[in-house]
Amino acid sequence: MLIVTDLEGVLVPEIWQEVARVTGLSTLDLTTHDEVDFEALMEKRVAALSRNDLRLSDLQRIAENVLPFPGATELLRWARTKGQIMIVSDTFHELSEGIVQRMGGYNLFANTFRADAEGRILGYRLRIRGRKDKVIRSLKEIGYRIVAIGDGYNDELMLQLAHHPILYRGPDALAARLPNVRRASTFEELRQIILESHEELASSNFT
Ligand SMILES: [Mg+2]
Repeated sequence: MLIVTDLEGVLVPEIWQEVARVTGLSTLDLTTHDEVDFEALMEKRVAALSRNDLRLSDLQRIAENVLPFPGATELLRWARTKGQIMIVSDTFHELSEGIVQRMGGYNLFANTFRADAEGRILGYRLRIRGRKDKVIRSLKEIGYRIVAIGDGYNDELMLQLAHHPILYRGPDALAARLPNVRRASTFEELRQIILESHEELASSNFT
């Protein structure tokens, strides 16, 4: 069994919001709720970083202080006894590797920045954005049974495709679009659904 989980909003807070809070740059606080076009959103973020001469090391220093949600580390450690963990996120490796390491060091699949030798951010490479569904499709194609956990609209397709999808603290409007997806609002509920999925799998021929 593979447990494919989103990062921000499920296991850790939104890292850009923390960067916005610490730097006082409101442009960085914009989310996909304010700017639906992710690439346009990222262009604004990169421009704001450049205007204020904020470099990769500055962002990483802030990200280093972001703490996982209470219980997230223990949840992952427990879930790992039920299956492999894959963290698939629209965040950036440079910002989230540290926190993933601090939670126990699981496989992280995310986007990356393009920066010059001095750490000025020039742009980004999107590997995951808009492709979470492809990740799930590919894993299914090679025979994995998948528990997927997500909280946002960027997880919608992933949740539609997974065998055991779980919407964690997602908005009601998203839940309404995913009538077959179970909802959890605490880590305890999440744990229970993972356990049931695991037991269902153990009683079938899948591994
Ligand atoms: Mg999220």
